[in-house]
Amino acid sequence: NADSAMYQAKASGSNNFRFYAKEMNAELGHRLSLENDLWHALENQQLVLHYQPQVCMRNSQIIGMEALIRWQHPKLGMIPPLQFIPLSEDDGLIVPIGIWVMETAAHQNRQLQLAGYPPIRVAVNLSVRQLEQKDLVHCIEKTLQHSGLDPQCLELEITESMLMHNIEESIITLNRISDLGVQLSLDDFGTGYSSLSYLKRLPINRLKIDKSFINDITTTYNDAIIARSIIALAHSLEIQVIAEGVESADQYAFLLENGCDEVQGYLLSRPRPFEEMEALLRDGGRLLPAS
Ligand code: C2E
Ligand code: MG
Ligand code: MG
Ligand code: MG
Repeated sequence: NADSAMYQAKASGSNNFRFYAKEMNAELGHRLSLENDLWHALENQQLVLHYQPQVCMRNSQIIGMEALIRWQHPKLGMIPPLQFIPLSEDDGLIVPIGIWVMETAAHQNRQLQLAGYPPIRVAVNLSVRQLEQKDLVHCIEKTLQHSGLDPQCLELEITESMLMHNIEESIITLNRISDLGVQLSLDDFGTGYSSLSYLKRLPINRLKIDKSFINDITTTYNDAIIARSIIALAHSLEIQVIAEGVESADQYAFLLENGCDEVQGYLLSRPRPFEEMEALLRDGGRLLPAS
């Protein structure tokens, strides 16, 4: 009945009404209230980017950083991306959020260069909704113009499963992005559909070996074989390899020995606020597995 029900209209999007009964379960209620709050998070500047360094294995120099979004919720504190990015994908809010992420990451990376640090890449995660936006390439161009960032210093991370939604369209879009000089990496590699046959058709600069393969790389023979094979495959296609989720010195040593190009993981640094990222560069921008 009408008394035990509530209607909730979205701030934009006219046919986008939601209906739910008062006796909804707690989780759904939590989800809906988060989703509602998220509409205000952008305008109220509650979203923030943390940066995780990416380190070249040859010289231990920081050569990139991945931008990872967090939500500083006024009541709930810091909310990690996996708790709100999926919500924002459902209702399309990921599109303006994604633009904000790209603009902010490019701007902050440019700030580092203007401060005199050697140029590094900044990697931004894309969602499938963004990849399907007709004006994605235009948004990237605008970001480069606004920030003045060299396209080579911007990298976009996509996943295999995102591409598989519409592989032919995706290849066209990725080629247009690559033509801008922007770099592309394949995130969480190995966890999605196998796109090995597409790999040579994609203008990909870098594969990120998923953490799930890195975890047991030094203890499980099969995982060691998989990691080695990914590195060999990528190199034979002239694609670089970065290992993500590296947590131990043993994993680091294995990857170094097996020719992995770059590493990212808690062993070297957790994601950190922009100011702390800058502090790392100020200290010389080297991260060693022992330190
Ligand atoms: P991802 O792109 O695969 O990012 C790597 C995740 O692994 C990050 O989690 C990072 O903090 C975590 N990580 C890094 N090194 C280690 C390690 O050594 N050990 C462990 N256990 N974890 C490690 P985070 O920040 O919670 O982000 C989770 C996911 O949320 C990301 O996975 C990405 O898919 C998504 N995400 C984050 N920021 C954005 C964004 O701006 N836009 C979109 N569309 N997605 C985002
Ligand atoms: Mg990523
Ligand atoms: Mg990943
Ligand atoms: Mg992931």
